[in-house]
Amino acid sequence: MILKGEIEALAKYIDKGHGDEMADHDPSSTGIIAKLRSFNTEDVRASIERANETSKSWARYPAPKRGQILLKSGELMESEKEKIAELMTLEEGKTLKDSMLEVERSAFTLKFYGAIAYKYGGKTLPSADTDTMIMTVREPLGTVSLITPWNFPLSIPVWKIGPALASGNAVIIKPASKTPLIVAKMIEILRRAGLPDEVVQLVVGSGKEIGTELVVNDHIKAVSFTGSVSVGHEIYEKVGHKRVMTRVQLELGGKNALYVDKDSNLSKAAEFTIRGGFGLTGQSCTATSRLLVHETVYETLRAKILERLKTWRTGSGMSKTVDMGPVVDEEQLKTDLEYIRDGEAEGAKIIHGGSERPKGLFLGPVLFEGVTPDMKIFREEIFGPVLAITLVGGVEEAIDACNSVVYGHTAGIISDNNTVINRFIAGVDAGVIKVNKPTVGLELQAPFGAFKGSGANTWKEMGEDALDFYTKEKTTYLGW
Ligand code: NDP
Repeated sequence: MILKGEIEALAKYIDKGHGDEMADHDPSSTGIIAKLRSFNTEDVRASIERANETSKSWARYPAPKRGQILLKSGELMESEKEKIAELMTLEEGKTLKDSMLEVERSAFTLKFYGAIAYKYGGKTLPSADTDTMIMTVREPLGTVSLITPWNFPLSIPVWKIGPALASGNAVIIKPASKTPLIVAKMIEILRRAGLPDEVVQLVVGSGKEIGTELVVNDHIKAVSFTGSVSVGHEIYEKVGHKRVMTRVQLELGGKNALYVDKDSNLSKAAEFTIRGGFGLTGQSCTATSRLLVHETVYETLRAKILERLKTWRTGSGMSKTVDMGPVVDEEQLKTDLEYIRDGEAEGAKIIHGGSERPKGLFLGPVLFEGVTPDMKIFREEIFGPVLAITLVGGVEEAIDACNSVVYGHTAGIISDNNTVINRFIAGVDAGVIKVNKPTVGLELQAPFGAFKGSGANTWKEMGEDALDFYTKEKTTYLGW
């Protein structure tokens, strides 16, 4: 059980700014968990300076030793997983079960990058000259900014910081203002595992106010951002005006579709629809927000989904019996409710939930049928537990529907027909395709990066590929 004193100690750990006071809320009770002092731009600048001063010595630190720190921090995180999961549920609202999965996965991610630090390097190539060998080495960029969202408050910071540190970069990290404590916990663990204090600088505060410095400061050689499309575009534009070349990695929103084919296991389809649409309160970039169903199987699938929803529980994430926690805050709830009203106004029909004003932030699953591709709830990211159902006549129509939105994050298909599956994989323009699986759930060893308007379409995150973003490859011609 996480104690009040431990939360206060963590809050003190990051309470180093000179900006406005900011409050960290529990979405289930809407009560305040901790009050912190934001960083102002001067504080951010000073943090960047501190990180930058250590960047050279950290780059020279032997890679296997950097790996050992990450391996050790993975172990420490695992040994405290119950407490960290509780802190996550308190701050973000997701169920304890989902928090636990995220903490376990984050601990493995740290270990994964710890092990990779031992082996990641360049390559050797043959030369056309008999007295020459060509080799490449991968060097760190220097100081990098990581800007992260609240919905995976630990795993996203970890999957960025792991490769950034393994490859020898100094880091400035700014977590979402809704979830700063969990990132403070991650850094406390990294330092306990042996990371020199100054190598990672945590800055907290409103992205609108301090975000610019994290991007435009000349010491920053790369920005890895996960969050909304609008902020992603803003960052891209700011980087474009810099004197210093700066890499940008953007992972943004999505409007992911799951297609249920006529030849498919409909019980599996119903289960995956619900898990993808309503698990994590639909607040996941890989969430299923559109369900495309072959018209011949819709009635059966509809009945199965509605039957399963009868036992689906929404409530405080701290309760072991709930399937889904609250929406993260009032602002997100307002957005969800506006989209629900839009859906009704545009002629779609609610077949589950959504009719009453929710108690607190507990919205619960909302299911629309009769959704057409021109409707807002079909085209725009809601980032809540609202699922739009559209009927299609076959896989070609499903592919067109998937591709008709500006996003290209994730898409899924449930089918037992290999020809249909292969056609779907080839036809859909999305960074991740899931076959006979829910759209949510990514494995840490596999590269991940969205297409089209869902990202910058540059470097991948996760897996070994993630280190490419944080390194530059130097080519040497070695003659004798
Ligand atoms: P935001 O874009 O609002 O915020 C993300 C981060 O950016 C926060 O730390 C925020 O700080 C900061 N920020 C806000 N404004 C600026 C700015 N002007 N300059 C620099 N940084 C800024 O997104 P949310 O946190 O609301 O996250 C939800 C979004 O993230 C959804 O669109 C979702 O699809 C996307 N997402 C994408 C994922 C992916 O892998 N593609 C994964 C998870 C989420 P502050 O909190 O202080 O506002």
